[in-house]
Amino acid sequence: MDQELKELYQQVILDHNKSPRNFREIDNATQHAEGYNPLCGDRLDVYLIVEEGIVKDVSFKGDGCAISKASASVMTSLLKGKKIDEVEKMFESFHDLVTGKLGESPDLDELGKLAVFAGVQEFPVRVKCASLAWHTMMNALHNNDEKVTTE
Ligand code: ZN
Repeated sequence: MDQELKELYQQVILDHNKSPRNFREIDNATQHAEGYNPLCGDRLDVYLIVEEGIVKDVSFKGDGCAISKASASVMTSLLKGKKIDEVEKMFESFHDLVTGKLGESPDLDELGKLAVFAGVQEFPVRVKCASLAWHTMMNALHNNDEKVTTE
């Protein structure tokens, strides 16, 4: 990873850990899920308000390491106002990025703010920390989706 991206990664982690965005509960959330990463002890709750296929609001609460918190914070700041299919695409991009599928020099323009998380590739145990918020958000999105029918 190039030096510029490395520095940006550290900045983003520090900044979002110190002042996490959307760090609150949403009382009237339409969707909610809990996430836990036993490897590190990160715990977080993700809250969503989804109306007409659009994420109207999203937030998180919880306790964990700097990377899990920063990742949740960046995620919530990116998802607001996005359509469900856009959210799913971002989840896939993020997942491919942190698991190294996009290689060491991902297309930064396409990934936008997510690109800084390319840094976790170098620390395999941190991949779960960085993905926790995203997996929890996807659970929230799908478990309570009205379109899902249970037998
Ligand atoms: Zn962690």
